[in-house]
Amino acid sequence: MRFDLPTPGFSFELLATLGHARAGILHTPRGDIPTPVFMPVGTLGTVKAMTADELRAEPLDARIILGNTYHLYLRPGLEVIGLAGGLHKFAAWDRPILTDSGGFQVFSLAAINQIDDDGVTFRSHIDGSKHRLTPEVSMHIQKTLGSDIAMCFDQCPPGDAPADVQEVALARTTAWAARCKAAEHAPGQAVFGIVQGGIDVERRRRHMAEITKLDFDGYALGGLAVGEKVEDTYRVLDEVAHELPAERPRYLMGVGTPQDLERGITAGIDMFDCVMPTRNARNGYLFTSQGRVNIPNAQYRTDLGPVDPACPCSTCRTYSRAYLRHLYVAKEILYARLATLHNLTFYARHVRALRERILAEGRRA
Ligand SMILES: [Zn+2]
Repeated sequence: MRFDLPTPGFSFELLATLGHARAGILHTPRGDIPTPVFMPVGTLGTVKAMTADELRAEPLDARIILGNTYHLYLRPGLEVIGLAGGLHKFAAWDRPILTDSGGFQVFSLAAINQIDDDGVTFRSHIDGSKHRLTPEVSMHIQKTLGSDIAMCFDQCPPGDAPADVQEVALARTTAWAARCKAAEHAPGQAVFGIVQGGIDVERRRRHMAEITKLDFDGYALGGLAVGEKVEDTYRVLDEVAHELPAERPRYLMGVGTPQDLERGITAGIDMFDCVMPTRNARNGYLFTSQGRVNIPNAQYRTDLGPVDPACPCSTCRTYSRAYLRHLYVAKEILYARLATLHNLTFYARHVRALRERILAEGRRA
């Protein structure tokens, strides 16, 4: 079954379902994205340590990456990216890009001066300069970046914030979503709404009803895995994910471990992003089919086997654990490149294997 999304040129094709899990294809003007999909995070217009060619090459074959509104707005700034003709040209990436709205970074990185119903005034984490983000400003930045999928500007309160704080943030996020929808977008730019509500399932459902009424191209669950207990994350996922509209892509923001991805897919999620594979790679943690490898450990000093014998990435086909450990200990920059390529390939193959299972064992949609 193929569903046209509100933005022309976008459609979501549902191929098979297995319980709540779904396998499909998100069709975009810049190419098809088989789902479920893991999206590598390219915060500053670069998936750290990787070239665009490396991201595109098999077996990684990344179909979509993330860019970050807050970071790119502060550095290099809209003037430079505008002159380049948008983020795709600037970063030499011709496949789809999803940009977040900057909301999460403003609330987690910047020094907040003021939050009101219109927007947020904050000081940059880089130089302390003062800026203001509103729904309209966020959409204008994302329009200039020219991403294929823009996210609504939302307020994500801490998971343990009291009920009245949560309620104010929810009402604001709904009002801001309507303003994001009404704002001007880049040609061929889809917009996703974000459902907040913390770990309270009823609050989540209430907010989901408000946001889905606005008819976005896709829907995200925000504000999960932000410090709450993992069983609370899973409870909300299990209760809420499959209640999001079936004919639109569903995106779980900023989550998580390979197990989290499997739980999310089982609950009915189609899209994921997380800094975990890239950040952990640089910190010495490698994901493998045999569990995590903490490469600095002394046991790998003389281990001449591959990082993961089951992995077809060029790091695993070419180099040994002992060599990677040596590069890590010696702080050689090649380490970050080899480790990142491996972890991203592991995540891509993990999600692809789950997709294949849904296609093989599920019901044709
Ligand atoms: Zn590998």
